Amino acid sequence: MWDRRTRAGDVVPVVKAQLRAMQDRTTVIRAGRLIDGTTASGVRRDLAIFVDSGTITRVATAPELPSDAEVIDLSNSTVLPGLIDCHVHLVFSASAYALGDVLVEDDQQLLLRGVAAARHALRAGITTVRDLGGRGGVTFRLRDAIDKDLIAGPRVLAAGSPITITGGHCHFLGLEADGEAAVRVAARHQLKAGANCLKIMATGGHMTPGTNRKRAQYSVQEIAAAVDEAARAHVTVAAHGLGTDGIRNAVQAGVNTIEHCQWIGADDSVSFDEAVAHAMAERRTAFVPTLGPRQRPAPDVRERIIGAMRQAWAIGAPIAAGTDAGVSNRPFDSLPQELEVMVSDLGLSPLEAIHAATGEAARAIGVGDKVGTLQAGRAADMLVVDGDPSVRISDLRSVRMVIKGGRTVVENGVVLD
Ligand SMILES: [Zn+2]
Repeated sequence: MWDRRTRAGDVVPVVKAQLRAMQDRTTVIRAGRLIDGTTASGVRRDLAIFVDSGTITRVATAPELPSDAEVIDLSNSTVLPGLIDCHVHLVFSASAYALGDVLVEDDQQLLLRGVAAARHALRAGITTVRDLGGRGGVTFRLRDAIDKDLIAGPRVLAAGSPITITGGHCHFLGLEADGEAAVRVAARHQLKAGANCLKIMATGGHMTPGTNRKRAQYSVQEIAAAVDEAARAHVTVAAHGLGTDGIRNAVQAGVNTIEHCQWIGADDSVSFDEAVAHAMAERRTAFVPTLGPRQRPAPDVRERIIGAMRQAWAIGAPIAAGTDAGVSNRPFDSLPQELEVMVSDLGLSPLEAIHAATGEAARAIGVGDKVGTLQAGRAADMLVVDGDPSVRISDLRSVRMVIKGGRTVVENGVVLD
């Protein structure tokens, strides 16, 4: 018994050393065009990205290539950071009946949906997602399986169950809390269970019958309790906010991102609050518009919501890209379309939209030191496309290759397991 364990123990370090030697080989990626994600401007030409052990070590022009380097020649393509979807629900079905599906399916079914969703996102060039609502620990298991390379998928920041009031938005995901002390306990429970971000429902929502999307669910103090617990654990907080009252409370409480941010007033009109937008600009509180397909919601309402979002953006409130993938009719590969709508409807330039899904997204969700930009010290996560998405944003759909941690994980539309 002991002997066998000792021998197995001897083998492990040897195998690990061999693997490390394989990974240690320098890879050089030659990029015809490079969008590095650090700012919302600039395409550079003919660069080389050096990658060691899954991490970018430098980006250089006209380099002398080391003789033992493995070279990936992408001189006819555009290389950009792997995309970040700041708002997904990996265990939701994205069918027309997403709510019904999550209500009747057990955790094993949800987990299998998550496995498929993760592959789907990866194929579209999404190498990081922030999951803002699953049930129990299912999304944590999924995230960990991806981290251990058991299954293919993007890096996952997972909130687990969102914190909501009794009977509030998404209460069926199992985490109701009322009052400052209870919110604090709920946040601690999620962090203990493995959450690496938190989600709190600042207003009601469309998906949950009987909730009020126009009104705040929580006071500033209640949301601040979650923010305080998150800070202790070095994670960020996302607040679901449709109505202006709830958005105001969440911004004041110091959350990192406002999800949807539709500025709905108490009387159902769109009620933009300039002071709140100024506070967002100062605190760098990003909003995640989750605009979805152009036909939703009803055209006149959508027009006014878009108008409010444009005002917030003009004031300087940062935008981070997210799709709400997993809810009804929002597939997991829809981030490129979301960026197209940001360009056509919100008036962002293609490079600003790309920034919202790369460098700015990473900053907003607290992982800017790890992913989102192509510079030394960041994970070698890249999306390679034909054409030039800085000119035509829809070129993001022409995925040629996806690289995660220095390894090619998608080629010609196929996930390489
Ligand atoms: Zn959502």
